[in-house]
Amino acid sequence: MQQSVRLIIFSLTVYFLGCSMNIGHENYPNNPTPLKKMPFIKLPLGAVKPQGWLKDQLTVQKNGLSGHLDEFWPDLMYSAWKGGDGDSWERTPYYLDGLIPLAYLLEDEKLIKKVQTWVQAIVDSRQADGWFGPPKNDDRWPLAIAIKALTQYYEATNDRTVFDLIEGYFRYLSENPPDWPDSTWRGVRAMEHAVAGYWLFRYTKDTQITQTIKSIVTNSFDWTSYFEEFPWDSAAVGDGRVPHNWKSEGLTAHVVNNAMAIKYPGLWYQQSGNDRHRQAVSRAIENYDQHHGQVGGRFSGDEHLSGKRPTQGTELCAVVEYMFSLEKLIEIFGEPAFADRLELLAYNALPGTMTADGWAHQYDQQSNQVLVSHQEREWSTNGPASNIYGLMPNYPCCLANMHQGWPKLVQHLWMATEDQGLAAIVYGPSKVEAMVGNGHKVLITEETNYPFDGKILITITSDEPAEFPIHLRIPGWTRAGNIQFKGKSIDPTSGKFIRLCEKWENGDQIRLQFAMPVFTERRFNNSIAIRRGPLYFSLRIDKKYQRIKLKARSYRSIDYKGSADWEIYPTSDWNYGLLIDPDNPECDIVSKYLPLQKFPFADSGDIYYHSGKDRFEIWDKEAPVVLSIKGRQIPEWQTINHSAADPPRSPLVSDREIETLYLVPYGCTRLRISEFPVLIQ
Ligand SMILES: [Zn+2]
Repeated sequence: MQQSVRLIIFSLTVYFLGCSMNIGHENYPNNPTPLKKMPFIKLPLGAVKPQGWLKDQLTVQKNGLSGHLDEFWPDLMYSAWKGGDGDSWERTPYYLDGLIPLAYLLEDEKLIKKVQTWVQAIVDSRQADGWFGPPKNDDRWPLAIAIKALTQYYEATNDRTVFDLIEGYFRYLSENPPDWPDSTWRGVRAMEHAVAGYWLFRYTKDTQITQTIKSIVTNSFDWTSYFEEFPWDSAAVGDGRVPHNWKSEGLTAHVVNNAMAIKYPGLWYQQSGNDRHRQAVSRAIENYDQHHGQVGGRFSGDEHLSGKRPTQGTELCAVVEYMFSLEKLIEIFGEPAFADRLELLAYNALPGTMTADGWAHQYDQQSNQVLVSHQEREWSTNGPASNIYGLMPNYPCCLANMHQGWPKLVQHLWMATEDQGLAAIVYGPSKVEAMVGNGHKVLITEETNYPFDGKILITITSDEPAEFPIHLRIPGWTRAGNIQFKGKSIDPTSGKFIRLCEKWENGDQIRLQFAMPVFTERRFNNSIAIRRGPLYFSLRIDKKYQRIKLKARSYRSIDYKGSADWEIYPTSDWNYGLLIDPDNPECDIVSKYLPLQKFPFADSGDIYYHSGKDRFEIWDKEAPVVLSIKGRQIPEWQTINHSAADPPRSPLVSDREIETLYLVPYGCTRLRISEFPVLIQ
C-alpha cells in the first residue's frame, strides 16, 4: 500500500471514529432488527420549530381555513368522531392530521385546546377489541389516517392513553381477518397503516405488528408490480385507455392513490430488505415524470392520471400526499433527490394552489392557468368547478386533507441520523432542539430566506462542546455550493449529503451558500420552464377576482366566515413567447429581490381576507423575487375550452413588438404561464 493511500485511510478512520463513539446508543428509536436501519429518523413533533417566513406561513394557516374550519364546516362541527351526525369517515382524521402538528408547532393554546377535545373524544370511543371511532363506521381506512395523526399527538404530549389506543388497534388488526379488497379505497390504501405500524414497532418491538404489516402487503393491492409494469403511461393517455371509473381498475389510475402509494414499496422494504422494492419506488417516480410530469415537481391527475399537457390538473390531495410519501422515503433511503423533489412540491405546487391568505384552495391546479372559472375543461373525470379557488370546489376531500402540507414539512426539515447526529434535509428558517452524540442536548438555528435566497446561516448552541456529525443536503440543482465552518471552506458535490463531524462549541456557525443561477427545463411541445434553485417562475398576469357562490356539497347550510369562492379573470395578455437562449438564460434575465411579507406567497393584485375589518382587500406588494425578461406576443395562441391551448411547438417566430415580461415564483401566482414557447431571436 502506498504511503499516501495508507495515510488517507488512517485519517478517515480517525475522522469516522471521532464521531462514532456511541455505538449501540440511540437518542431516537431506529428500526430494531430484523428491520433495515433507517439512515434518518424523524424527530418527535415539537423538536423542529418554524422561524421567519415559514412561521409566517403557518400563521397564515392558523388565521385561515386550518385554524377555523371546525368552527363553520358542518362535517366537522357535527362530526360523528365526537358524537354528532356529521362526518363519520375520513374528513375528521384528515383534518386532525394537519391540525395536531399545526397547534404544537405554533404552541398555540387555542389550537391545542381544540386538538385535545378531538383526541379525548377519539380515546373515549375505544372499544374492548381495539376498534375505535364513530359507531356507524366499519371501514378501516379512516382509522389508518387517525392513527397516523395520533402518532404526532403522542410525540408532542407523551399521552399514554393515545399510545395504548394505537397499540390496541394493531392488536385488533392482528386478531381480525384481512379485510383489504382491491376494489375499495381501503384495499389500495391499506399500506398507509404501515406508517404508524413501523413507528409503533420501534417502541414496542412486538413482532405481531410486523406480522400484521406482512398480512396487509399480502392481502392488499400489489403496488410494487403496478410500478414495475406501469400500465397507465402516455400511450394509455393518448389511446384513452386510462380507466376513468371508480372500480378497482380506476382506483389504480387515481392521482391521490398513486401519490400515496409511491411510498408503499419503500415502507415494505424496511421489512423485506428486497432491492426490488427500493427499485419500484425509483421506477414509479421516473414513470410519473416521463408520462405525467408537470412543473412544480408534481404529476397530473384530474383526477385520474392525465398526461403532460400543461393544462391538465393535479388534485391538491395528491400534492400533500406526494410530499408525505417523500418525507417517509427520505427516512428509509436517505436519498437527497427525494428532498430536492419535496422542496419543489412544498415551495411551488402547494402555495400555488391556495390563495395567499389561506382561506381558499383549488381542487386542480394547472401549470398554464390563464382563467379560473366555473366552466367545463378537458379534465379526465373532474367537474367544472375544479380550478376555482374556494371553500370546497369539486369535492370536499382536499378541504379536509390539505392542512398536513406545511406542518409535516416543518417536522421533516431536520432529522436525527443513524450516527447520532443531525441532518438538514429540507432548507427553511427553523430551529431544532435535539439529542446528539451520547445524549447531549443541542439547539441549532437556521436563519435563511431560502428558497427565495441561497444563503443559510446555521448556529449551534450547546452548554458544553459536543462532538457529533451534522449532515447537510447539497441540492442536486446547485452547480456552485460553498460551506464555511471552523475556519474551513468546502465546495461540496451537488446531489449528495456532506457529513461534517466536529467537536462543536457554543456559538459555532456554518455558512452555506448555494448559487442560484436561472436554468431552464424542456417541457411540452419543446416549450421551456424557468427555474431558479427550487423555485419555478411563471408569467405574472394581471387579474380580477370575481366572487361567486358554488353550490356547496354539504348536508347543512354553511356560513363561510372568511372563505369565499373566486373566479379569476386575466386583465393583461398571457400569450407570450420568450426571447431567451435556453442554454444560457442568465444572459437574458434581470432579477429583483424584495423583502418577505406576512403572506410569503402573495403577489400584487392578490385578494386577502382582512379579519380585523372582516372584509377582502387587495394585496399591493410584489412577490419576493421578480425576474424580467423580453418576449413577444404569439397572437395565434389562444384559449380552447376555457384553458390556454397547448403552447405552439418551439422554436417559432413572432413579428410582434418586443415587450418586457415579469416572472414571479409559481407559488405566488393564481393565474400563470409556466411552460413558455421559445422564440427565434
Ligand atoms: Zn382531494
